[in-house]
Amino acid sequence: MLLTLSTTHEPATDLGFLLHKNPARAQQVEVSTGVAHVFYPEATEQRCTVALLLEVDPIGLVRGARGAAAEGFSLGQYVNDRPYAASSLLAVALGKAFASARRGVSKERPDLVGRPLPLEVHLPALSCRGGAELAERFFTPLGWTVQATPLPLDEQFPEWGDSRLVDLRLTGTMRLADAVNHLYVALPVLDDAKHYWVSTDEVDKLLRAGQGWLATHPDRELITQRYLAHRRSLAGQALARLAEVDDTDAETFDDAVPTDLPADAPADRPTPLAQLRAGAVLAALRAAGAHRVVDLGCGSGALLPALLGEPSFTEVVGVDVSARALQVAARRLHLDRMPERQRARLTLVQSALTYRDARLAGYDAAVLMEVVEHLDPDRLPALEDAVFAAASPGTVVVTTPNVEHNVRYPALAAGGFRHRDHRFEWTRAEFAGWAEGVAARHGYTVRLLGVGEDDPQVGPPTQLAVFTRGVVAEVAA
Ligand code: SAH
Repeated sequence: MLLTLSTTHEPATDLGFLLHKNPARAQQVEVSTGVAHVFYPEATEQRCTVALLLEVDPIGLVRGARGAAAEGFSLGQYVNDRPYAASSLLAVALGKAFASARRGVSKERPDLVGRPLPLEVHLPALSCRGGAELAERFFTPLGWTVQATPLPLDEQFPEWGDSRLVDLRLTGTMRLADAVNHLYVALPVLDDAKHYWVSTDEVDKLLRAGQGWLATHPDRELITQRYLAHRRSLAGQALARLAEVDDTDAETFDDAVPTDLPADAPADRPTPLAQLRAGAVLAALRAAGAHRVVDLGCGSGALLPALLGEPSFTEVVGVDVSARALQVAARRLHLDRMPERQRARLTLVQSALTYRDARLAGYDAAVLMEVVEHLDPDRLPALEDAVFAAASPGTVVVTTPNVEHNVRYPALAAGGFRHRDHRFEWTRAEFAGWAEGVAARHGYTVRLLGVGEDDPQVGPPTQLAVFTRGVVAEVAA
C-alpha cells in the first residue's frame, strides 16, 4: 500500500518540517497491522515528495482476530487484496506517522501550517467501492482536482472489466493538515471495509478529522455512515453533532463586531445581525397582515421561536430539506414539552424547495431567510417555480447577504463567502435583477430593503426583498 504526497512550495523541503519527518532519513512506524515506512523519493528546493508505504503482515492481520477478514470465509482471510490496496489500514498508518501534521502543529515552521500549499497526492491502487465516480464526489467538493482511473481486474483480460481499485491523483492548494485529514477519512470511507471494531471514540475521531469540511460536504451522510461502518446509532450521533456545527458556523460573520469598535466599548455592542434580520422579517410579515406562514429552509429554527411567540401567526410551518436540521429544530423548540395550544400551531415538513410540493400551497406568506444562496445558481429557476408559481403565497420575504459588504469583515477582506456552503453571494444589483425578474414572471411586485447599517460605500450587510402578489405596480400619472 503506497501513498505519495508532493509539494512545489519553495523551499519544497519544508514538507519535512511540516510532517516532522526528516527528508534525509527513512523512518519506520509500527502499526498493529504491520510496518509503515516513511521516505522521500525526491527532495529538492523545487519539489519534494514523501512516500508512505505500509507493509502489511497478512498473517498477523488474521491472527489479530480483529480483522474484517476474520468475519469472512476462511479462504478469504488469506486470499484477498488487503495488503496491496490503500485502505483503512493505510489510514491508521497515516494517522500515526503524520499525527502532528494532522493537528496542524510544527515547531520549526509554525507560520507555514496555516498556509495553503500546492499539493499533489498519488494513490496508485486505492480500494474504492463506488469506483472513480465516488472518489470524485468525495474530493471535488473539498477543492481537489481529481483524476481517478479505474484499474482493470486483469490487464491481460480487459473483458473481465474493472476491479474496485482506482489509480487516484489529486492536485490542490490547501493546508497540509486539511489534506492529510481528507485522506485519513477518505481511505476507510472509499474502501468501505473497515478492519477494526468501530467504537464510540470513532465518532470523536471522525469529527476531529472532519473539522471545517465534513459538516458542509454534500455527501456527509454517506461519509459518516461508511466511516462508522454502518453502525446506525453512531452515525446518528455524529450527524446530530455535525448539524450543531453547521448552526454555529452560520453566524460566524454575522455576529462579527466591527473592527473599529474600541475594545472597551462592549456595553453598547451592536445588536447581532442575525437578530436584526429576524426582526426585519417579522416586521415585513406583520405589515403584510400574514397569519399562516411557511418558513422555507427554516434550518434548525432561527425564526420559528419568534413566529410561535406571536399569537397573530396562527399557523407556522417550518420546511427544510435536511431531516437533521428539523430534528435539531424540534429539540431546540422542546416540541415534546410545548403547551398543546402552541404545539398545534406548528408543523415541521421535510421537503426540497426545488420541487413543487402541494403541502406548501395556499399560505399567507413564505419566508426564505438566508436560503437562496445555498442553492446552485442553476437550481434557482426550480425554486422560483416551486415557490412563486406553485405555492404562490400572498407575500414572500427573501433575505440574502450583500456580497459588497464582505470587505467590511476582516476575515473576508481578501475574498470568500460568509459561509462555506454558500454557492454564491449577490451584489445589490444582482439581487435586484433576480428579484425584479421573479416578480415580473409571476405577477408580484417587489420592494427592496437593507438590514443592518447602510454603509455609504458598500451598502448594508443583508438585503431583503418583500414580494406581494397581484398588486398592480403604481403607474406614474
Ligand atoms: N433560515 C435559516 C437557515 C438558513 S441555512 C436561518 O436563517 O438561519 C439554509 C437552509 O436551507 C439549510 O437549513 C438548508 O438545509 C436549507 N436548504 C438548502 N437547500 C434546500 C433545498 N433545496 N430545499 C430545502 N431546504 C434547503
